[in-house]
Amino acid sequence: MTKRDDAALFGNRFLTEPAPSEKFPEEGMAATDAMRLLDVDLAMEGDPQRNLATFVTTWMEPEAQRIIAENLHRNFIDHAEYPISAEIEQRCVRMLADLFHAPGRTTGCRTQGSSEAIMLGALSLKWKWRQRRQAANLPVDRPNLVFGGDVHVVWEKFCRYFDVEPRIVPLAEGKYTIGPEDVEPHLDENTIGVVAVLGTTFTGHKDDVVGIDKLLRDVCKERDLDIPIHVDGASGAFVWPFLYPDSKWDFRLEQVRSINVSGHKYGLVYPGIGWLVFREESDLAEHLVFYENYLGKTDSTFTLNFSTGASMVLAQYYNFVRLGRQGYTYVMRTMQENARTLADNLRGSGRFEVIGSDLEQLPLVAFRLARRARLRRVRCRMATLGRARLDGAGVHAPAQR
Ligand SMILES: *Cc1c(COP(=O)(O)O)cnc(C)c1O
Repeated sequence: MTKRDDAALFGNRFLTEPAPSEKFPEEGMAATDAMRLLDVDLAMEGDPQRNLATFVTTWMEPEAQRIIAENLHRNFIDHAEYPISAEIEQRCVRMLADLFHAPGRTTGCRTQGSSEAIMLGALSLKWKWRQRRQAANLPVDRPNLVFGGDVHVVWEKFCRYFDVEPRIVPLAEGKYTIGPEDVEPHLDENTIGVVAVLGTTFTGHKDDVVGIDKLLRDVCKERDLDIPIHVDGASGAFVWPFLYPDSKWDFRLEQVRSINVSGHKYGLVYPGIGWLVFREESDLAEHLVFYENYLGKTDSTFTLNFSTGASMVLAQYYNFVRLGRQGYTYVMRTMQENARTLADNLRGSGRFEVIGSDLEQLPLVAFRLARRARLRRVRCRMATLGRARLDGAGVHAPAQR
């Protein structure tokens, strides 16, 4: 018997052979071997359910997993063949527009995550600015975008990829968000927009969107510059509506023209889904929408990708109808309770200072070593623990492997 035949007796042959990794394989292998090769490799990395440092969803109900698994072969972009998937996307957009208090008819789309939503939203800011300038016969060669040092790296990426000058408000010790006084000195006629973060990646707080909105309304009146706000609600736009429903950050504020949110963070769906929602249809620059008819019907596309799976769109809709406002509120409050318990324990240990837990904040704990022992800063996010506790309380079935 060869070594290979022996391996059929127990385990798989990659216990003794290296995994293929450099050359494209000449021959294939049995399906079981391929599966075990992957299983064993993946067993070496972190277990997502124990990852406390992520905002991204690590557990979904078995019913949702079934929807996902049964629809992995559905290409979302093929609206002619899969019109119901497209309709379900639009239902989600309308529900989000309602959650974010859009005043009337609006538009939006699914994306791969907030990063794609931000690229598209910011491109629309750039195009709308250019339209306004061209209509007035003014130069369009020096666009800038104003945001704080508390933004996610995607905003700097946008500026570099799409040739926009970033005007970044620096942060300082004890000041981890921005407000109107920070933004004001950076504004001019070439400002395509201001970014406000709802739930920063660093401490989970929100920029002063109310203050920035007021400033921009004043600037509009006094200097005739109509500068829109894009809210980066990657994490916060699924948290604030449920934990702080009376706090204004969304389309209730006039200058807020577009919002992005990650379905795969507090939207409670597995990775691969984000959303972009405009205040009104006219806030999307029409020039960015393409019409094509490759797949049997004329479709409008506003996206950086083309083909992609429909599963996560369906899973998002599943969560919306399964949980509703009541269910999301319950999940967010439970996470918040867990975050507060952990924060109390950290504080109680005397070794740590908790950052800004008395303010509106994502359900997470941001902390650093107490002054006397401050060698380096650490932080920890609670999203996963929140859901772990839900499981433990027997509210949901134990997670399936
Ligand atoms: C996570 C995050 C992003 C990027 O979102 P993805 O969905 O991972 O692409 C952008 N902005 C903020 C504030 C985030 O927290």
